[in-house]
Amino acid sequence: MAGRNWQTRHAVVVDDSGHYETLGIAEQLVAEGADVTFVTPFKQIGFKVENALMVEPVLERIAYAAGRFTILLRHRVRAVSGDTIEIAPTYPAPSSHLPCDTVVLVTPGAPLRTLYERLHGKVSTLAIVGDANSPRDLQKAIYEGHLAARSC
Ligand SMILES: Cc1cc2nc3c(=O)[nH]c(=O)nc-3n(C[C@H](O)[C@H](O)[C@H](O)COP(=O)(O)OP(=O)(O)OC[C@H]3O[C@@H](n4cnc5c(N)ncnc54)[C@H](O)[C@@H]3O)c2cc1C
Repeated sequence: MAGRNWQTRHAVVVDDSGHYETLGIAEQLVAEGADVTFVTPFKQIGFKVENALMVEPVLERIAYAAGRFTILLRHRVRAVSGDTIEIAPTYPAPSSHLPCDTVVLVTPGAPLRTLYERLHGKVSTLAIVGDANSPRDLQKAIYEGHLAARSC
């Protein structure tokens, strides 16, 4: 079909984060002509960036894009098998199967603590701050770094 990209036709983007990344990925895929199903267990999309007024502009851009965009709130992926994906509501209800050649999974980040662990017990003062403590945002990292420095 004209306008389709060669990489994916039926993509499922799974949002387990509620942040902007999933919306950005979905927008890119729809703009390239893929049919995208956005699956999230949350009751709304992009709830962590709603206050920053980032959700409606993305939806507006997607509405004019080449591919189709379907949102499944309160849903999760149960299985991926070959070119089919099984999706079910988060509440007891039957699953559905969709054609799918690409799955993008967006989950919360995991902390990287190698440096902290290597230094632990070898230096007199050591604090763990920011994303190494728990991945969140810049403001939290700055606050915790500031607090740690002032507490030394
Ligand atoms: C795609 C994306 C978009 C984001 N957008 C936003 C946003 O819009 N607003 C917002 O507030 N936050 C945003 N964040 C989150 C924000 O970037 C982080 O919360 C913040 O950078 C955390 O700061 P940090 O100093 O704890 O860690 P980092 O910024 O990750 O800094 C840690 C540094 O330590 C280095 N390092 C790690 N291990 C070692 C080692 N063993 N030896 C030497 N160096 C090492 C790393 O290379 C890195 O430079 C975003 C994050 C991502 C991934």
